[in-house]
Amino acid sequence: ATTSGSEQAVQATNDDATISKLSCVKKGYISDDFVQFFVRRPIKRSPIINRGYYARWSVMRQLLFQFLDADSPALNDPPPRKQILSLGAGFDTSFFQLVEEGRILHNFVEVDFSEVTRKKATVIGAKEVLLTKLGPEPKISMVEGEIISEHYTLLPADLRDLKDLDRVFLRATLDPKQPTLIIAECVLIYLEPHVSRAVVKWAADKFETAAFVIYEQIHPDDAFGQQMLRNLESRGCPLLGLHDTPTLESKEKRFTELGWQNAAALDMDSIYHEQINPLDRKRIEQLEIFDEFEEWNIMQEHYCVAYGVKDKNDFFLNFGFN
Ligand code: SAM
Repeated sequence: ATTSGSEQAVQATNDDATISKLSCVKKGYISDDFVQFFVRRPIKRSPIINRGYYARWSVMRQLLFQFLDADSPALNDPPPRKQILSLGAGFDTSFFQLVEEGRILHNFVEVDFSEVTRKKATVIGAKEVLLTKLGPEPKISMVEGEIISEHYTLLPADLRDLKDLDRVFLRATLDPKQPTLIIAECVLIYLEPHVSRAVVKWAADKFETAAFVIYEQIHPDDAFGQQMLRNLESRGCPLLGLHDTPTLESKEKRFTELGWQNAAALDMDSIYHEQINPLDRKRIEQLEIFDEFEEWNIMQEHYCVAYGVKDKNDFFLNFGFN
């Protein structure tokens, strides 16, 4: 299949995100030893962009840790083999960073377009420090954009095709019974509403005990929202899902209407003030001179984190916003 202009444009948003993460690392906002390998030309971002990525990284990492720390008596014999499925993972380096930090990850599965997974597999295959994190005898195909290893799987898939996702489910040996965290960070919003809905339902149908976390835009209707839409549209990747789920309530409803027991959503302004560790927030606020307070607040009101949970075994009792 050939890659369309809009597919290329949405893949380029991943390069943008990766450059911004590296900018944050260099300024000391976040720790990541591996994102550097995925950036050819580093660009220093403005303080407001750095702060935005810090907030996004921080809340997503908090939820990831909550999942990794969670357990339930009903699922403890034998101990659970927790699974993470990252949809549209781009060049995310969480797997490598978490292994570096001594975390045990049983099955960390990433999918993206093959153009992206091929580049990712090529970088991983060429870097000893990444390769060694994969454990013994990883199978790497740079041509196919695939990695199958003991605890990490990278596979190409088009989220618009559920057969691709079914194939990933089998090849990555995902287990419907094991606790699963599904992540879609700045991904579903680029899909047609009927497609993102199908993905949300697919995940609910597949896993018994799971949380599905998304990070994405909200509020298309005010001046900032209009600007946000125009920006991405002019780059060739319109936010196709934004009018379908324009509010926190609609993000929650998408989960509860499609097989998830309960759901929550908060905008990044509340998350920054109420969910992120206050000491760490204080620390990063001293890293750079910052005077764009009005724009910062408005920007943060236009991004949110939402999640749906399915939980028969009280595994997710301590998961989610405070
Ligand atoms: N989740 C990563 C992060 O937060 O850094 C990357 C985010 S990037 C903004 C969006 C990613 O979604 C890109 O890597 C893009 O290729 C992927 N994506 C968008 N539509 C997709 C589709 N239909 N199938 C597979 N991947 C898709």
